[in-house]
Amino acid sequence: MPGLYKDEGVVLRTIKLGEADRIVTLYTRRNGKVRAVAKGVRKTKSRFGARLEPFTHVSLLIYRGRSLDTITQADILTSFDTVRADYDSLMRAAVLAEAVDKVTEEREGSVAVYGLLLSGLAALGEGKGASVVPAFLVKLLSLAGFHPSLRVCAGCGRAAALQGFSARLGGAVCEGCWREDKGAVRLDPARIALLSGLLADDFGVDAPPEAVGELTGVLRRYAEYHLERPLRSLHLLAAAG
Ligand SMILES: [Zn+2]
Repeated sequence: MPGLYKDEGVVLRTIKLGEADRIVTLYTRRNGKVRAVAKGVRKTKSRFGARLEPFTHVSLLIYRGRSLDTITQADILTSFDTVRADYDSLMRAAVLAEAVDKVTEEREGSVAVYGLLLSGLAALGEGKGASVVPAFLVKLLSLAGFHPSLRVCAGCGRAAALQGFSARLGGAVCEGCWREDKGAVRLDPARIALLSGLLADDFGVDAPPEAVGELTGVLRRYAEYHLERPLRSLHLLAAAG
């Protein structure tokens, strides 16, 4: 029902609305993904234009309308300026935001997803680098109900030598299951172990660039298979090398 509510959230993306307004998509702590109008933010004298830049962490006062919500107040909790100041980390932050946007439904709050988004952005802000992307994706997919099997074969359940990854079967696969699944890709056992490490640990795992690139590609196909739509920012990231 209509009324004011308080929350805090991270700006995932914004789109223009009319001459001066924007529709802001946020991932909030209590209400999950929320789309709300920010009126007048594109005017130079706007009270909170800069506070609603992508990846900014803000406290919010929102009016719940019958169709769209309206942001009535926004105050910065964490600016994540260092994320936006660097092109590579900006591209990576765009992947985090798009993945959360695509994986979550509106108004389905998850404190775990919210915490993951904040810690992923913090890791980028601290310069933890390229491995933040696959680490974030595998954690997010796991929280979203797509926890990959990485210890036993996702196809037959045996603890056989794992040497591939199947999006359809949901994880690492043995030689036999890899042969039977045309969509499965080869993935070296050391890379499967690294993926386990990225899932289990914080964002501190060091990984060589080729491993990061390969695992990011595997996770992109895994996410897109289940979401049935592309993650555009990941294609841009791959193209940028
Ligand atoms: Zn198998």
